[in-house]
Amino acid sequence: MDLLKKIRILADAAKYDVSCSSSGSDRENKNSGIGNASFYGICHSWSEDGRCISLLKILFTNICIYNCSYCVNRCSNDVERALFTPEELADITINFYRRNYIEGLFLSSAVYKSPDYTMELLIKTVKKLREEYNFNGYIHLKAIPGADVNLIRLAGLYADRMSVNIELPSEKSLKLLAPQKTKESIIKPMSFIHNQLMEKSESKKLMRRTDKFVPAGQTTQLIIGATPESDRTILKLSENLYKYYDLKRVYYSAYIPVFNDNNILGMTSPPLLREHRLYQADWLLRYYNFKADELLTEEEPNFDVSLDPKINWAMKNLNLFPVEVNTADYNMLLRVPGIGLRTANRIVKARKAAYLNYDSLKKLGVVLKRAKYFITCNGKYYGECEIETDKIKNKLLPKRNVIEGQLSIFDIDNTLNNLPIIV
Ligand code: SF4
Repeated sequence: MDLLKKIRILADAAKYDVSCSSSGSDRENKNSGIGNASFYGICHSWSEDGRCISLLKILFTNICIYNCSYCVNRCSNDVERALFTPEELADITINFYRRNYIEGLFLSSAVYKSPDYTMELLIKTVKKLREEYNFNGYIHLKAIPGADVNLIRLAGLYADRMSVNIELPSEKSLKLLAPQKTKESIIKPMSFIHNQLMEKSESKKLMRRTDKFVPAGQTTQLIIGATPESDRTILKLSENLYKYYDLKRVYYSAYIPVFNDNNILGMTSPPLLREHRLYQADWLLRYYNFKADELLTEEEPNFDVSLDPKINWAMKNLNLFPVEVNTADYNMLLRVPGIGLRTANRIVKARKAAYLNYDSLKKLGVVLKRAKYFITCNGKYYGECEIETDKIKNKLLPKRNVIEGQLSIFDIDNTLNNLPIIV
């Protein structure tokens, strides 16, 4: 099979991993213009210092010995298969890099022959890049569940970031949809990477030079909507992953219904709005000091997808509002819908110099169309209704239909009926 065909198959097969987003562009260079976006699998990701970097996102192979019900690459699925050699993939990466198409590599793989054998192939590829080509660009490498920890250790010396995908939010769902994987085969490498990172950070304090091990940390991915776990179960799992494994990110991937499988919940389109709400809630956990148990309860384990999770929380805790922006403490300001991290900092700084009025809040960047229902300014309340859940909700709900998922260009009637009303 020629290389271009392998790239096409294996870059396409990698698109279901959302740890970085695919550009999906297909614009060729014509008439000696500048740039070429026709190459498969180039996506963008963000580095620790906030730079946007382009990555070649690709699988080493999509030939898999496992049969995970949710996966397009499962062994029982009839798809075109391909396999690189480490030399081929290292050469492709370095050639793309030299042509300035990419700044790094995002390399994953199906389980080919065995987890250890696959991990060895991935290591050979990145070792070649680092040691033979002296490639110093960014490498994000998948740890294959079930691979020996000694291989994970070796891989971590070459990769900037690693990830072990949990995929399913409970052991029960894992047994049902991915019976060849076990909770242990996923948690063990994750825990090993975490322990290695802690050891490295300790030895850095004692030694001037230590080997770099996964310097950009580890991440994971959870599939949303294929199994019945609630938002609360998913968010509590993420909270524990951040707390106990110090993960850099948990990515949420709305399940794309490609199969009719009795074990997978029936759906016609990916639950994209639910995925979006989980990302927003995840942000609240990481930066706004919220706890999963505050955002969702056993009685109400799922988000109202029509409102963002911060507004949802504020609605359930209206007894804490309105807060006076001139005196509220920083943590309470952070909990006001419409006030973000930067705005809360600006408010705290600005009010030291002068009493803030409604107009000054606008200048500080407060999103008043949301915040006005939850604050007072110099004792005055600017919300256009009483502080009651239904009334505020009515004001805050978008004045248009909320469409879950992407509009289809093929289902014309349905699409036209669902078009949002622009107000
Ligand atoms: S092991 Fe990975 S590639 Fe193979 S079927 Fe499962 S999810 Fe798909």
